[in-house]
Amino acid sequence: MLVVMHSHASAAEIEHVLQAIRRMNLTPHPLPGATRTAIGITGNVGAVDPRTLEVLPGVMELIRVTKPYKLASREMHEADTIVHIGLDDSLTPAALAKENKGINIGPGTFTVIAGPCSVENETMILHTAEYLMSRGVRLMRAGAFKPRTSPYSFQGMGLEGLAILKKARATTGIGIVTELMDTENAAAVEEAADIIQIGTRNMQNFSLLKRVGKARKPVLLKRGMSATLEEWLMAAEYVMAGGNYQVILCERGVRTFSDHSRNTLDLSVIPPAKKLSHLPILVDPSHGTGKREFVPPMALAALAAGADGLLLEAHPDPDHAQSDGAQSLDFPGLDRLLESLKRLAEPLGKKIT
Ligand code: PEP
Ligand code: MN
Repeated sequence: MLVVMHSHASAAEIEHVLQAIRRMNLTPHPLPGATRTAIGITGNVGAVDPRTLEVLPGVMELIRVTKPYKLASREMHEADTIVHIGLDDSLTPAALAKENKGINIGPGTFTVIAGPCSVENETMILHTAEYLMSRGVRLMRAGAFKPRTSPYSFQGMGLEGLAILKKARATTGIGIVTELMDTENAAAVEEAADIIQIGTRNMQNFSLLKRVGKARKPVLLKRGMSATLEEWLMAAEYVMAGGNYQVILCERGVRTFSDHSRNTLDLSVIPPAKKLSHLPILVDPSHGTGKREFVPPMALAALAAGADGLLLEAHPDPDHAQSDGAQSLDFPGLDRLLESLKRLAEPLGKKIT
C-alpha cells in the first residue's frame, strides 16, 4: 500500500500519518519526492481498511500495490491449480492421479458438467445420469436445495433429493455437483456431492464460505450477480483460508441494464480472472442467458475465451421441468453442442472431459 500525500501537506501532517501507520502495527517507509511525499507501507496490509488513512489531513490518495487476496492470487501461487475429482472411492487421491483416473479440472482440459436445474424425481435423474455417461459427460449437476426468488416456487426435494443423487452415483458412476444453501445441511451435501456448489446468492454468505473451507470436497463458487472480480476472489479466499484449496470459479452472468437476456454473461471476466488467479474457471451459459437457444453460442464462446469448462442445464423434457426449463437444453440439443465443442476444442489444444 502506498499513501500519496498532497504537495502542500505539512511536515506535521506527514508525521501524523506515519504514527497512524505504526499504530496499525505496520511499518511506514517515507519516500520524499520533488513535489510531494509518498509513504510505502509494509506488513500485513491485506486486512487494513484504507479509509482509516484516506481521511487523515494532507492525504491525497491510497494506492494498493498488492492484492487483498493471497491464497487465491497468482502473485502467491504462479502455477494453475488443477482440481482433481476422484469418482472412485476405493482409491486414494494420489493413486487416482497416478492412474490418471477421475477428472482434472484446469488447463488442457474442458470439463462439461450437465444436468437438470433441480432433482425432480428418481426416474428423471437416473435417466439423465445414464444418458450423460453414454456421452462421456462424467459430472452431473442437479440441485436438491433450490434458492428460488419466490417462496411459492418449487423449493427442491431436499434430503430426499440428495438420496436420489447418491443412488444415481452408485448405479452409474457419475460424479455429482449439487448446491449447498446453508450450514445446516453442509454435512449431508458434502457426503452426497463430488463438488459442492455455492450459488450466486450465497457468494458472500461468509459463514457458509467458512464452513465449506472445512469441507473435504471441491467447491464450485459461483460469482455473485453483482460481484466485482475482486469480491469474487475474496470469497474464494474465505474458502481457501479455511484450508480447502480446491476451489473452482463459475461465471453465471451479472445484473446489467440489458433486458434481452436473463443475465449478462460476462465472458470478459475470464482473461483477468486467469491473470489474477490460478484457480480454474467454468462458465454457466444457462443462467447467463436464460434461454436455451442462446446457450450453444455462449458455450462455444466460453471455450474460445479460455474457460476450463461449462456448467450446463439439460433436461429430458425441458418443457415440463419444475425449474429453469426455458434455459435447459434437451438431450438432442446437448448432443449437438457436445459435437460443436469437440470440433472447436481441437484447434484450441483442449480436451473435452
Ligand atoms: C443453479 O445452478 O441452478 C442456480 C440456482 O444457479 P445460480 O446460483 O447461478 O442462480
Ligand atoms: Mn437453475
